[in-house]
Amino acid sequence: MLVFKDLNVGKVANALAHVNPVTLAKFVSTYVYHEWQIDRQNKKGIVAPTQMHIELTTFCPKRCEGCYIPLTDKLDPQVMSKKTAREAVRRGLAAKIRIYHLLGGEPVSENTLPLIQMLVESYPWAAFYVCTNASYLARHGDSAGVLLKAHNLSMNLSVDGFKATSDSIRGRGSYADVMGAASRLRELRCFFGATAAVLPGNFDEILSPDFLMHLKERGFSYLFYSTSHSSELIPQMEVLAKGGFYRKSPLPLYVNALGNLGNFSPNSWARLAYVAKNGQVLNDRQERVVVGDLEVVHQLGSMPQWAKKYRAQGMAGKAQAAYEMTEKTAYRLEEAEAAPYLF
Ligand code: SF4
Repeated sequence: MLVFKDLNVGKVANALAHVNPVTLAKFVSTYVYHEWQIDRQNKKGIVAPTQMHIELTTFCPKRCEGCYIPLTDKLDPQVMSKKTAREAVRRGLAAKIRIYHLLGGEPVSENTLPLIQMLVESYPWAAFYVCTNASYLARHGDSAGVLLKAHNLSMNLSVDGFKATSDSIRGRGSYADVMGAASRLRELRCFFGATAAVLPGNFDEILSPDFLMHLKERGFSYLFYSTSHSSELIPQMEVLAKGGFYRKSPLPLYVNALGNLGNFSPNSWARLAYVAKNGQVLNDRQERVVVGDLEVVHQLGSMPQWAKKYRAQGMAGKAQAAYEMTEKTAYRLEEAEAAPYLF
């Protein structure tokens, strides 16, 4: 099974030791289920969504370097309706999606917290990750304590390096907000992690052992590298991944363009369904081609606009040829032909 392939179990266990055991069990089981889903899809030669991104709002008062959200959207205060958010998760669960990322703009504010609370309480069997700049949590973490302790919620704090680097990219005070929120989350024994945007100016720093250890010592349980802002750096990440960089890490790592580095393979990528704040389903969060409304969530695997990305980039050599030959037959390919990346 691919789940534990090359995972540094000792280091990972150490990074998770302070987390509430019920929360930990929840997230580990969801992770294992997700890896099993990917493995199963690969063996069957199909693709279907395994995670959902839900855009709660595009509003954000910050102006970070490299942010791809247009300014007009960052000024729009609209928040997704509860009805739409509930329907998105309901449809996702029906399509066997257990992992949900609540995103912005900035998805944590006074206006969005009731929505997050409603989802977390309504769907205890789903796991919710919330990617936040931590500005609200640093100031109001105490009042949000009950929500933060929910066993199916993980805050994912944006930090792009040590203080000087992160503040230069994300604005003055950003680093202090993240570390202030981390301190509170650690006190509450939450399962929380970091997202670092991979940029030319912070590449060496965010991959340094010092930075990884710095996060671990402050209670972070995982680190997600986002290459969405600098795709030209993906080959460098790939070289590091192939060199076994992740085995030395004191934290579990994930790169959005490469997958879980403990299972490095394009075929280990999460398959993402994107829901915009108005309830439209998009092919991709940045390209933003509308593929339908929420009714299409369970059909995405058979929709070329969505499935093609995972087919084209996730397979190589014979597998890609097999895909092209069988593209007309409901996105199936011969398992034997897919050998290079199938587990
Ligand atoms: S906090 Fe996030 S949404 Fe806001 S400007 Fe920074 S990257 Fe963009």
